[in-house]
Amino acid sequence: LPSRLPNVGTTIFTVMSALAAERGAVNLGQGFPDFDCDPRIVDAVSAAMRDGFNQYPPMAGAAPLRQAIAAKIGALYGHAYDADTEITVTAGATQGLLTAILAVVHPGDEVVVIEPNYDSYLPAIELAGGTPVFVSLEAPDYAIPFDRLAAAITPRTRLIVINTPHNPTGTIWRDADMRKLEAIVRDTQVLVLSDEVYEHMVYDGQPHASVSRYPALASRSLVVSSFGKTYHVTGWKVGYVAAPRALTAEFRKVHQFNVFTVNTPMQIGLARFMADPAPYLDLPAFYQRKRDHFRAGLERTRFRLLPCDGTYFQCVDYSAISDMPEADFAKWLTSEIGVAAIPVSAFYHEPHESGIVRFCFAKKESTLDEALGRLARL
Ligand code: PMP
Ligand code: GLN
Repeated sequence: LPSRLPNVGTTIFTVMSALAAERGAVNLGQGFPDFDCDPRIVDAVSAAMRDGFNQYPPMAGAAPLRQAIAAKIGALYGHAYDADTEITVTAGATQGLLTAILAVVHPGDEVVVIEPNYDSYLPAIELAGGTPVFVSLEAPDYAIPFDRLAAAITPRTRLIVINTPHNPTGTIWRDADMRKLEAIVRDTQVLVLSDEVYEHMVYDGQPHASVSRYPALASRSLVVSSFGKTYHVTGWKVGYVAAPRALTAEFRKVHQFNVFTVNTPMQIGLARFMADPAPYLDLPAFYQRKRDHFRAGLERTRFRLLPCDGTYFQCVDYSAISDMPEADFAKWLTSEIGVAAIPVSAFYHEPHESGIVRFCFAKKESTLDEALGRLARL
């Protein structure tokens, strides 16, 4: 049978988590917390189940959750999405991304992808019959080359995918970057898919540059986020997509036959939990402490730190330790040193070696300390 996705294998996250488990390594590879969520959010979900929220919710998502999402975006970024026609609850950001791409990308359309990029974008573009057009970022600063971004736009460009805070590099887009993007798309029909799953993990008091802060961008954007990241519940797989009415209408045509709906009690529980903004407002400080602790420990190793302005990922340059290719180094580090990492090369579509791996610091301090102890021996 000819494959629809001939280039797709098992994701690097699964591969490295399996190797970490097999070798008993501290798993700083795949991005997920090793601590539990707030017990109140579990109580909110079980209360929703006891309250009888156990049948299909509306196709677009439970109304209280869509209202809570719209209220949050309004309060934080000043954009008033209509909860009925512009917010859709998805089965994690992954389904939101795939559904968005299938909904707007036609066969033969070009989609601009800024790499290194999260690994679900390319298979989604391929399934839609689109052609990815790459703009590459380079270590150590991974600055966006706006001249090359502008040059990548052609009459066939349908969509640009952006991701801030950025997985895997931990960089963020700033106001000046958003203004440049605005200028690039101004006189075009190009849409923007903005992956903002790490929106509540931006450090040192910096603002999150959501496209929804920029009316000229918001009017052509689908914004994707994920409760998994924000509430330490990556296994729940609940997220959402916010987009103007016409885009949401197209999104929902695909969503309707992709999942139809997302589990009801999680949605009602999340809606009730969201009434208190403290958990997501406190998240930057929570993760900044972990980032600072982890970076201070890494300063005492031979790894060279790259900047980390957002996400729960810290990239390091290991060229003082080894000249192995990144994938080999990540496997060696996992197997022989007992700390799993992700090679940044896995986020590029062609072989790309910079001597950099990504660690996830969404871990208990004791886990980070165990990893740091092992890394210090190198
Ligand atoms: N986008 C990015 C940049 C991510 O890092 C992740 C998490 N792996 C996702 C999307 C997917 O999020 P979810 O787990 O909610 O599907
Ligand atoms: N987003 C997570 C990461 O980048 C992993 C998600 C997954 O395993 N697919 O590590």
